[in-house]
Amino acid sequence: MSVLSLKGVTKHYPRTTHAALEDLSLEIQEGEILSVTGESGSGKTTMLRLIAGLEVPDTGTITVGQRTVCAPGMAPLPPEKRGVGMVFQNYALFPHLTVRDNVLYGLSRRQAKAERTEILARVLALTGLPGMEKRYPHELSGGQQQRVALARALAPHPPVILLDEPFSNLDASLRQQLREDVGRILRAAGTTALLVTHDTRDALAVSDRIAVLRHGRLQQIGTPMEIYHEPANEATATLFGSMNFLPAGTLGRAREAGPVWVRPEHLEVITLPERESAAGSLTGTVSRSHFYGDRQEVSVVCGGDAGEVFELSVMMAPVPTLPVGARVTVREKSVAAHS
Ligand code: ADP
Ligand code: MG
Repeated sequence: MSVLSLKGVTKHYPRTTHAALEDLSLEIQEGEILSVTGESGSGKTTMLRLIAGLEVPDTGTITVGQRTVCAPGMAPLPPEKRGVGMVFQNYALFPHLTVRDNVLYGLSRRQAKAERTEILARVLALTGLPGMEKRYPHELSGGQQQRVALARALAPHPPVILLDEPFSNLDASLRQQLREDVGRILRAAGTTALLVTHDTRDALAVSDRIAVLRHGRLQQIGTPMEIYHEPANEATATLFGSMNFLPAGTLGRAREAGPVWVRPEHLEVITLPERESAAGSLTGTVSRSHFYGDRQEVSVVCGGDAGEVFELSVMMAPVPTLPVGARVTVREKSVAAHS
């Protein structure tokens, strides 16, 4: 069952030439974690603000749960009536309120005390914050503050939680930890979530599906595996990492199949003498190499059948070191090796 749907949603901001979001349609299923990713300015935040009711679309229909929250000819439902939870990059906790009061802030005053206590205990357990009830935000680490923000969003049990760049304020190691925590917490809560992030590693790591935006248009929607291994276009391919775009017919592919797209880590270097080169391989000269500690990226200049010269990139183990000028043979790893 779809818990959130957008149909034909378009948004232009005043005094801008291009639409921030153009004819966007997508659906999120119950319990699903969907990430929306794309370069800065691709329309991610606009999409979230439209769903939350902080902006109104020029046209299009948005449904949350069973309820249409905005549609052409209808007065848009205000944010507080939409039943969506929000988690922002800057946590947006009330500095003068304790963890307890921050978390319970969104609950109806009519809710019985016993029920509020039970909800507080449940969401603090879920977010790994028991015993923190009386602390103030400044007495917590960034990761803990973000988990309080998540606990607050979860407390009223909304049908959908929206998260806008929730890991952006954190340094790299904390970021990875919180990414794992948030994924686990959202799944344990069984909540449906829409996570906006410019970091494709966040999207790959926590999502059931990923939607890719570019210039306000949906490029592709699919599982992390589909998006990474079968990107719909060049921009999507390179957003998720390096990609070699090689001439048709290389690496033993059928020429009719068009240009060959292959990720650097799906190639391997073998140091066979040229006359022994296996079918479907390419022989060339190492032109550059970059050492990253746990792996190295090696660029190889090759010549194609039609006399064209091109460079490709191979991501491989850090040893053996391949000096610039070395003659090497590159081939695609077997499918079994990279699946
Ligand atoms: P993202 O979150 O993907 O970085 P945004 O949704 O913030 O992208 O922005 C999409 C586009 O809309 C950008 O071109 C941005 O400059 C523009 N934009 C966003 N907010 C406003 C605004 N309040 N007024 C005018 N233009 C805006
Ligand atoms: Mg944004």
